[in-house]
Amino acid sequence: MSDCLFCKIVAGEIPSKKIYEDDKCYAFYDIDPKAPVHFLVIPKEHIESAAKVTDDNEKTVGHIFKVIAKLAEDLELTDGYRVVTNVGKDGGQTVPHMHFHVLGKRSLAWPPG
Ligand code: 5GP
Ligand code: ZN
Repeated sequence: MSDCLFCKIVAGEIPSKKIYEDDKCYAFYDIDPKAPVHFLVIPKEHIESAAKVTDDNEKTVGHIFKVIAKLAEDLELTDGYRVVTNVGKDGGQTVPHMHFHVLGKRSLAWPPG
């Protein structure tokens, strides 16, 4: 979607601190962290929110949760973390491209930068 902030981040048109990407998803640090570790995992495909999951894209959501578990391990969030997805205006969603916030307590200097 041409006029979407997170589509632009996926396309590299807007810089981000990337943690991970594969053919289906992209993970990067939140620009305004609300926890010592705060990153976002988003589908590369534009899906507006968790309210727009369909038979066609549901596998991407499961895949994202597998990626979240792997990244949490890599970042040593061994004592747990929160996964949050806001839906719509009343749910506090400000960017209309589905994203999963991952919030953890451990602060690591990895990946560098
Ligand atoms: P929401 O409120 O929609 O659930 O979350 C949107 C998140 O995206 C917020 O936590 C906000 O800090 C983050 N965000 C907004 N613009 C940018 C940006 O340009 N780069 C990065 N890395 N995060 C952003
Ligand atoms: Zn988008």
